[in-house]
Amino acid sequence: MQGLMQHGALTLDKIIDHAAQWHGGREVVTRSVEGPVVRTTYAEIHNRAKRVSNLLLNLGIKPGDRVGTLAWNTARHIETWYGIMGIGAVCHTLNPRLFPEQIAWIADHGGDRVIFTDLTFLPIIAGIIPRLPNVEHVVVFTDRDHMPADFKLAGEAPHFKGLLCYEDLVAEQSADCVWGGFDEGTAAGLCYTSGTTGDPKGVMYSHRSNFLHTFITMQPDVMGLSQRDVILPVVPMFHANAWGVAFSAPATGAKIVMPGAKMDGASIHELLETEGVTFSAAVPTVWQMLLQHLESTGSKITTLKKVVIGGAACPESIIRAFHDKYGVEVVHAWGMTETSPVGTLSTMTDQLEKLSYDEQIPYRLKQGRPPMGVELKLTDDDGKPLPHDGKAFGHLKIRGPIIAAEYFRGAGGKILDADGFFDTGDVATIDEMGFMQITDRAKDVVKSGGEWISTIEIENIAVGHPKAALAAVIGVAHPKWDERPILLVKLKEGETATKEEFIDFLQGKIAKWWMPDDVVFVDEIPLGATGKIDKKLIRQRMKDYVLP
Ligand code: ADP
Repeated sequence: MQGLMQHGALTLDKIIDHAAQWHGGREVVTRSVEGPVVRTTYAEIHNRAKRVSNLLLNLGIKPGDRVGTLAWNTARHIETWYGIMGIGAVCHTLNPRLFPEQIAWIADHGGDRVIFTDLTFLPIIAGIIPRLPNVEHVVVFTDRDHMPADFKLAGEAPHFKGLLCYEDLVAEQSADCVWGGFDEGTAAGLCYTSGTTGDPKGVMYSHRSNFLHTFITMQPDVMGLSQRDVILPVVPMFHANAWGVAFSAPATGAKIVMPGAKMDGASIHELLETEGVTFSAAVPTVWQMLLQHLESTGSKITTLKKVVIGGAACPESIIRAFHDKYGVEVVHAWGMTETSPVGTLSTMTDQLEKLSYDEQIPYRLKQGRPPMGVELKLTDDDGKPLPHDGKAFGHLKIRGPIIAAEYFRGAGGKILDADGFFDTGDVATIDEMGFMQITDRAKDVVKSGGEWISTIEIENIAVGHPKAALAAVIGVAHPKWDERPILLVKLKEGETATKEEFIDFLQGKIAKWWMPDDVVFVDEIPLGATGKIDKKLIRQRMKDYVLP
């Protein structure tokens, strides 16, 4: 027997409709790529998103077509995002931090027909358009006065009809356009994983999966967002939908502050203070830069209450600095492009809340517990369940309506096990309280004498050394133990240090046999396209290294 309730397809146009109708005057503030801070509202964004839809329809875009965006976090990017999704087309966020060849590969594989981009990325566009036979139009997020006079492609591209000016087109179009009316399973967004192994793979979000993810993230024990919040998503929209914030902020009616192209410590600090930001989200390296800026200038943060930190393990030094010096709560989170991306969060439970902050730290350092709607399991190599004792390491698997079922165009083949769980490629433990801890990516783990060493744990402790700016641990070949860990350290500006200082610092904080066999000081620890330490590149650079 069926229930007798209205169906109401869960389509994403309803989010921006709601924001415009009930929070229409709430501000959306952007540090524009052209320079000044510009202000708009949800009502205005809704109006302009409809114009973008008409613009796309006039360019011949049909339901299911992919439309690329190569762009920073700005109000124009949000308008375009809803304009694309509202007519059943697919918003394909391209990550500008990838190499141009990778961007071209991804845009081609995605089958993008139009690309929206910022002025910043025109040199990339000039290089890749000759390799994208499906892209006829590139729309530049700017006004007539800022359109480039001397844009030249890097090669022949007879299919390309030239650059279009976003503001001109938006002004010309009508704001009258019907959205939705399609099935909630319809594709809404496409985002490629960075492809640390093999080619990048496309995760195709549906209206339904993003709608459910929005409900999940708004819960108090997840991101806990409210209309009264002022949200600064530093995490880019091209990094798994800005962790859903591009949906959850308008869904709650919170004010949103978009950082545009500037994510250095000083620029982020300025926006936090001038706009009264209460909530933010970013990868640890961004916060490292902010904290270093605050320390070196003696500045304070006065309105920020909570930051969600994820994408890579959050070191204790960051959690402590936010809490002890600035009174900001850190929520450590784990997720993947394939999980929309929220998977787990280290929100304190009623039991843990009663403990002192020092006693809570081990739990805050873990990646935490899944919200309702996400199922986790931990298994050995044969798929047998492992105990939740906080000690057994195993493969972390995940299931639920916000988790990918397969990749776009079948890349990677079948990705779910017989019970419908997706293997995350992460190695983790789960403790008695249900707190999951990532010990490594399966491909980064160091196996010494047959036992796993967690590189993440060593890095997180090492980066807490007062002289360290960044730290990374990799495995190197060893004749007796197969592999041994070495620690690479990038020191803070102007510092010098010895290997012994770091070994002493780790002493007593990690098992003896985890102790790195060497400490190498480097000028640079390379970061990948989503701001995480690029271990693959480090391993390449260190391939000729031999242990002392
Ligand atoms: P990529 O970095 O390859 O683009 P994602 O952004 O989807 O892909 O990254 C997902 C991976 O990032 C996870 O599988 C995990 O290895 C790592 N990760 C994410 N959050 C955390 C965290 N809080 N702690 C440790 N690792 C994390």
